[in-house]
Amino acid sequence: MITIKSEREIELLRKAGHIVYQTHQYLKPFIREGISTKELDRLGEAFIRKQGATPSFKGYQGFPNALCISVNDEVVHGIPSDYKLKNGDVVSIDIGACYQGYHGDSAWSYPVGSVNPQVEALLRDTEASLYEGLKAIREGAHIGDIGEAVETYAIAHHLGVVKELVGHGVGTTVHEDPDVPNFGKKGTGPRLRKGMVIAVEPMLTIGSPDIYEDMDNGWTILTDDGSTSAHFEHTVVVTEDGCEILTGE
Ligand code: MG
Ligand code: MG
Repeated sequence: MITIKSEREIELLRKAGHIVYQTHQYLKPFIREGISTKELDRLGEAFIRKQGATPSFKGYQGFPNALCISVNDEVVHGIPSDYKLKNGDVVSIDIGACYQGYHGDSAWSYPVGSVNPQVEALLRDTEASLYEGLKAIREGAHIGDIGEAVETYAIAHHLGVVKELVGHGVGTTVHEDPDVPNFGKKGTGPRLRKGMVIAVEPMLTIGSPDIYEDMDNGWTILTDDGSTSAHFEHTVVVTEDGCEILTGE
């Protein structure tokens, strides 16, 4: 069921989203060679709790940590570990925070030190594809408009679109209806209404978009061909003539 949020609810979603944004800003200076992904998780969780929120993903369907931290060919759902970031890595940090019962959800991919030009382009173009998707949002538009915008941009920039994983509605649960795919056809899918809150989250790859699940931990999704992937996500509320980013500044 797709829900339309009230002004009061949107205010709480704004607060939750802002905490997620602040957590990303707080973590940025720590993202450098030598830090373990477990340490980033610890820092992120402490920061979220200090803001009076709880990490949305901790315990979600049994997820063991506060943040999903995925490195290089890990697309999403990376489990923080003793792995220490290396120069040239890409680290995707997905953060969810729950404030007074309402969630915010935003992922961002960061370069560690200096990355090669191909990876630099992946990061730039995946971020840009997110904003292309957001530009398609307004009251009366369709979910398919977002997917078509993201996919068209990704294809034009020679990147693979992961199709098995999609964006989603956000509210009193971190994942709710509707699905928001990163592919589709303009004019198809549910209509966007003012007050709908959704997370748009392109996951793009340098190589093939095919993925597999790490059977050892039952969580982490990786690219089949080992190519690097990137993930950029904002939670937004649909407005009359566009959208308001809730996980931004
Ligand atoms: Mg997320
Ligand atoms: Mg999400």
